[in-house]
Amino acid sequence: MTQRLRSYVRDNWVDGEGDLAQLVNPTTEEALAETTTAGIDFGAALAHARDVGGPALRDMTFAERGKLLQAMASEIHKFREELVDLAIANGGNTRGDAKFDIDGATGTLHWYASLGEKLGNRRILVDGDSEQLTRSPKLVGQHIYQPLTGAAVFINAFNFPAWGFGEKAATAILAGMPVVTKPATSTAVVAWRIAEILVDACLMPKGSLTLLCGGAGDLLDHLTSQDVVAFTGSSDTGATIRSHASVVRHNTRVNVEADSLNAAVLGADVEHGSDTYEMFLREVAKDVTQKAGQKCTAIRRVFVPEAMVAQVREDLADRMREVKVGDPNLAEVRMGPLATARQLKDVRAGVDRLRSVCEVVLGDVDIAGNGRGMLTGVDNDKGFFLSPTLLVAPSLDCAEVHGFEVFGPVATILPYSPDASNVAGVSSLIDAIRLGGGGLVSSIYTDDIEIARAFVTGAGPYHGRLTIGGAKVAEHSPGPGAVLPMMIHGGPGRAGGGEELGGLRGITHFMQRTAVQGYGPLLEKLWG
Ligand code: NAP
Repeated sequence: MTQRLRSYVRDNWVDGEGDLAQLVNPTTEEALAETTTAGIDFGAALAHARDVGGPALRDMTFAERGKLLQAMASEIHKFREELVDLAIANGGNTRGDAKFDIDGATGTLHWYASLGEKLGNRRILVDGDSEQLTRSPKLVGQHIYQPLTGAAVFINAFNFPAWGFGEKAATAILAGMPVVTKPATSTAVVAWRIAEILVDACLMPKGSLTLLCGGAGDLLDHLTSQDVVAFTGSSDTGATIRSHASVVRHNTRVNVEADSLNAAVLGADVEHGSDTYEMFLREVAKDVTQKAGQKCTAIRRVFVPEAMVAQVREDLADRMREVKVGDPNLAEVRMGPLATARQLKDVRAGVDRLRSVCEVVLGDVDIAGNGRGMLTGVDNDKGFFLSPTLLVAPSLDCAEVHGFEVFGPVATILPYSPDASNVAGVSSLIDAIRLGGGGLVSSIYTDDIEIARAFVTGAGPYHGRLTIGGAKVAEHSPGPGAVLPMMIHGGPGRAGGGEELGGLRGITHFMQRTAVQGYGPLLEKLWG
């Protein structure tokens, strides 16, 4: 039976009216759920969050908000198995993909809960040391952070319905802002169920959680200068939100997490068969196929020294070929379908675009013309499947590869030649990495300090995060695709120009920094 998803507005579950969006199981294409936000008064929803949820959260100390986050994490974790099943059904996730999303949410909530405990019984954060402002030591200045008094509005992408909510909620709630969350409609079942779990547990102060399950409608029209929008999704939607009249008029704070052509580089020092080489292969193959490549941090561009290209294309193709694709309910299946019919159409179009200039090493793009490959546990033509696809670009500066994100299990090898123009011989490589226009994360696999230094110096300004793989960390790395709460997530340029998480940094996006000047001992007493 099709499940009707409702929104949670002004502390009540409500149905929208009119045409319903249909959510399907991407493996079977059967209808799974339906929802709409049409007819819901978004202005009233935001006002309730600001007027009821905001004061309640601001009244709590960091330690108390931390306890709330811990209770949220524990409650969601109790329903882990049910949520995994829903993620398989609505997202086409394998069990591993689903756990990555759900445990990512609870892990991040848990981490910020501990931070809340450390911040203790305070409501104000001090930023740096106080400064003496004149010749008299009596007059000092201190920067402080306090929560904004509006609503933290989350607009999330389809690929991480649990983690996308959890990572944003952890930081906003710890900061002291009420949450208004809008998951992507196509995969909203998991986010809707998480909201239901939290509401049923009566954990959250009134007004601190609002769920809008369906389209964004006129939500943005009601934003004020005290609200914050945390958006994850495509660059186009990010640009629409940033340029929305209300956002522009009120200078509403907007954080955008968008596309990224993440790079992985095999250092010229790495020998075939070494621990570092194996780590490179393992992490690239995992990153391209986990969640069927529908990860903002997935590796899209694989830079390989020219002399190693023949070996790497063979080894990487072998690793990717080992990934069983099919019904994600089956334990042996490691990659399920893409999440929606639209995703499949877009990714196929993207592969066609890359194929027009690149050589296909692996991928079922020609066989029967449907790109599904050999499927496990699927004996019909249903489901939005696409086999893992590996290509090789004709040159390092191939514009199609650097200019276009294919949001699926697709990566392209780009050959580079060590050059003589700097000590590490990587300047043309760095130029090529930069052609991605700004990214979330890129990685290098090397045990050579000069190569690592040149990579950090050259690629750093174009990225929010870099990872350096090597023999010493080969057994300890979660891979560049894992977004950890203590490290920032975001990136310049194409990646949206935003920044989330990063420990304490993540909560300050939901707070106002104010410089306060006055009599030193009085200021001390104000924040203790
Ligand atoms: P999308 O089409 O941009 O949708 C993202 C969210 O925006 C959805 O909740 C969508 O709602 C909403 N939305 C669409 N139009 C809107 C509008 N005019 N006003 C307000 N909200 C609007 O992106 P997607 O297809 O879900 O996700 C894929 C993209 O996200 C990829 O490009 C990927 O790179 C990027 N992504 C980035 C990150 C990151 O952290 N940087 C993470 C994940 C994904 P509906 O679903 O109701 O249309």
